[in-house]
Amino acid sequence: MNLHWSYWEKETFSGPWQFVVIGAGIVGMSTALELRTRFPNASIAIVERGSLPSGASSRNAGFACFGSPGELEEDLQIMPIEKILELVSLRWQGLQILVNRLGADVIDFQALGGHEIFTPVEGDVYEHLLNRLSFWNEQLLPITGLKETYSNVSNKDKFVGMKGILGMLSIQGEGQINTGKMIQALWNHCLQNNIRFFNGLSVERIEQDSPNHRIWISGSNSIIAETVIVCTNGFARQLFPELPVNPARAQVWVTEEIPQLQIQGTYHYQSGYYYFRNIGNRILVGGGRNLDLSGEETWEEGSSEIIQNGIKALLENTILPGYSTPPAYQWSGTMGVGKDKFPLIQKHAERIWIAVRMGGMGVALGSAVGREIALKIEAEIG
Ligand SMILES: Cc1cc2nc3c(=O)[nH]c(=O)nc-3n(C[C@H](O)[C@H](O)[C@H](O)COP(=O)(O)OP(=O)(O)OC[C@H]3O[C@@H](n4cnc5c(N)ncnc54)[C@H](O)[C@@H]3O)c2cc1C
Repeated sequence: MNLHWSYWEKETFSGPWQFVVIGAGIVGMSTALELRTRFPNASIAIVERGSLPSGASSRNAGFACFGSPGELEEDLQIMPIEKILELVSLRWQGLQILVNRLGADVIDFQALGGHEIFTPVEGDVYEHLLNRLSFWNEQLLPITGLKETYSNVSNKDKFVGMKGILGMLSIQGEGQINTGKMIQALWNHCLQNNIRFFNGLSVERIEQDSPNHRIWISGSNSIIAETVIVCTNGFARQLFPELPVNPARAQVWVTEEIPQLQIQGTYHYQSGYYYFRNIGNRILVGGGRNLDLSGEETWEEGSSEIIQNGIKALLENTILPGYSTPPAYQWSGTMGVGKDKFPLIQKHAERIWIAVRMGGMGVALGSAVGREIALKIEAEIG
């Protein structure tokens, strides 16, 4: 609906705001909170097109993870080791900021540990990783402070009812959170910090309106901002087509409650392309994007047969052998990915900043990225 703002609405809400953040996901809200710390008296608003965040932040799997051995080893093919470690460090820092800011109890943070599993088809990868564990543990020691971030736990009794598992590695320091509670707690913090939300407004374009920016939102209304921070992750190209960020849809199932469920903690499979965890006595399972990478490069919510079949097969054949009840919940979310896994945290134009491309670990990265972009802005505008 193309509704014209009333005199009152325009006078009160159209600005000029000192900071307008676009996107109310974990990165947008963390950025706004970090700006508030540095600019206590500034006017700060967040514009979000959904009634809830409509990208990934309230639709993810809630892994508080920083990289499995298989994933880091695979990353060596696309990134130098220094960059990989910088990224792991950013994820680790992000998780510390998140838990400290919101409180472990508030977001149900549970340090149940992570796991990476291998079936016989991945036998070579598993054997190779066993030889690489001490290397990765050495590299990660300065980041996690743990002597053995990764270890081999391939006794059959650790496979907790799963079938066809050849080997399993454990990831110390990994945990899980309640994603909904995290988003709610971030909202509350923003509201307590006098950060104004505009939900249900989609930014169509940003124009220079010297010395400010005019942010055009649905229809003929606009908001004026001195500084704009774009935190739209997988949707970044909708505003700036030149950015190297592709949408990547991810599909998820959650089962009915399963009495006597033994699986506890977070699990990665096939270099992180598949993942599953317990939520109480349910299983959340998702992934399989590697079955159809180009088909999942979409801004559309929804599902596809090939991925749904992949999730179903993993659940029924490996995680819960013999289970065949349809999912109790089923959804998709949109991530932002690129050839380079490092997020884009940078100035885009005069007083326009971007913090996008969180990949599959934005729960971990989001708070650290918010801090980094706020520090850059502070350094520039003082
Ligand atoms: C199914 C799934 C499972 C995942 N599991 C995990 C996990 O277990 N652990 C982990 O660390 N990460 C996980 N991720 C990734 C993580 O959720 C994301 O990296 C993170 O949420 C990104 O946060 P963000 O704030 O950058 O982006 P988003 O949460 O996508 O926020 C961007 C916001 O911008 C808004 N927006 C976009 N365009 C506009 C516009 N033009 N105008 C106004 N608003 C706009 C969108 O509505 C959206 O709310 C998962 C992602 C998915 C989809």
